[in-house]
Amino acid sequence: MQRLDKQFIDNQWVTSAATRFLPVTNPFTEQVVAEVTAGDPTDVDAAVAAAHRALPDWRTTSGSQRGAYLDAFADALTRRREELTRLSSLNNGKVLAEAAIDLDDAIACYRYYAGQARHLEQRQGAIVPIGMDSVEARSYHDPVGVVGLITPWNFPLVTSAWKLAPALAAGCTAVLKPSEVTPLPELALADIALEIGLPAGVFNLLLGDGDGVGAPLGRHAGIDKISFTGSNRVGEAIMHAAADRTAGVALELGGKSPILVMEDADPGQAADWVMAGIYFNAGQICSATSRLLVHEAVADPLYAELANRIDALTLGDPLAAGTDMGPMVSARQREAVQRYLGIAEQEGLRVVRDARHRTLPGTGYFLAPTLYRDVPVESRLWREEIFGPVLCARSVASETEAVELANDSDFGLAATVVSGSVERARRIGRQLQAGSVWFNSEQLVPPETGWGGVKRSGIGRELGPWGLSAYLEVKHLIGPV
Ligand code: NAD
Repeated sequence: MQRLDKQFIDNQWVTSAATRFLPVTNPFTEQVVAEVTAGDPTDVDAAVAAAHRALPDWRTTSGSQRGAYLDAFADALTRRREELTRLSSLNNGKVLAEAAIDLDDAIACYRYYAGQARHLEQRQGAIVPIGMDSVEARSYHDPVGVVGLITPWNFPLVTSAWKLAPALAAGCTAVLKPSEVTPLPELALADIALEIGLPAGVFNLLLGDGDGVGAPLGRHAGIDKISFTGSNRVGEAIMHAAADRTAGVALELGGKSPILVMEDADPGQAADWVMAGIYFNAGQICSATSRLLVHEAVADPLYAELANRIDALTLGDPLAAGTDMGPMVSARQREAVQRYLGIAEQEGLRVVRDARHRTLPGTGYFLAPTLYRDVPVESRLWREEIFGPVLCARSVASETEAVELANDSDFGLAATVVSGSVERARRIGRQLQAGSVWFNSEQLVPPETGWGGVKRSGIGRELGPWGLSAYLEVKHLIGPV
């Protein structure tokens, strides 16, 4: 069994000051596959200090040099694609095909920000028209400084890519803390940094949990900005800590995203997108479309079709060909979802398929896909993020009602619209309060488009040029021509 007691600081693996260790589990076999240090605030001090030492040189490297390093990250991940896909599946429990999609997303992200780093150089010093003949204004984009990056367990290598790639492209130096539940895939980033000759201290990786590393990083005086993806509870704590020193935050938090199926939708396609929207990654997706709003004219046939498709899903070994859904990431996450199933029973929700309807594999933190219909809008299952394979549905009488109920949420990360008319789908999409709206589509997240939510789903955007801006400060130079 691996014992991971080292932190990657200043391009060296140094022993953590922590004495606490945490088990890392394979969620399919339920076996502990590694022990990982819980981390220590002194590790955080050392990593932040290394990042500060590296900052003056790194911020003045050219955009094309930084772009070359990011291309090298993409190349190295491509070379290790198969190995990392398996490792991610093993550590997280996601099926191999989904882990492969993650790897490709991560690679595309490093590649995209390599281009953005080069482009940034060309944007420096752009003239800002101010309508004065004798005075000129020019805009420059400086890196924010040393950034802390904290990620969750549901998309290893992807959520870190969305932060690390733009941060390095911008000229920031970084301290990354991946989730202690899935720390294994991110270790590759440290190996790659060494392999490609990234200057020491530009990228530092700290293993550990919230107490050992996350909270100390979040409140560290040497951190200029924190970019966090995870739960609302922790995101809000990070924002409080940042307020104490007026540091910036970017938050990618929870969701309770709707999928709207209109009466003119193609029934087969609607079922495809409903299924993928909630049962992909065993429902552990921040953008899971966990609220189905279906027009009453097509509701019963859609529920019947979804029941058939749920029964046809194969739950099993994530590494085996033919598996559609793996286990939940941990016993703890499964218990959290099971608590909601208990609430559903107390609330008397109407079941189409529930977690008790099928026999599960002998080992693994499995939870069978669940579908409730006619869920009242007051139900806790309708309003709260469950983060598991649990779909809540209700029917609507009109487009107006569908939009109204879709927007009646504390969250606003994503949404999907399914309609026979592209024009209608776009019209509905424009009215939805969400950062991303797909229509007649799976959940595509190209690196060129922004990612992030409104309301309690977060603050700021990742990906696209907006994801780069999150790590830049705009500065204007104004003076005589
Ligand atoms: P979490 O908030 O428990 O943990 C996220 C990270 O924060 C982990 O690395 C954890 O160790 C760290 N952490 C824990 N306590 C901390 C503290 N006090 N200070 C600083 N860091 C601390 O979330 P999770 O269970 O890993 O992930 C699930 C959540 O993430 C869900 O709510 C989901 O919606 C959200 N999520 C959002 C997005 C998005 O893009 N909006 C993407 C993925 C996941």
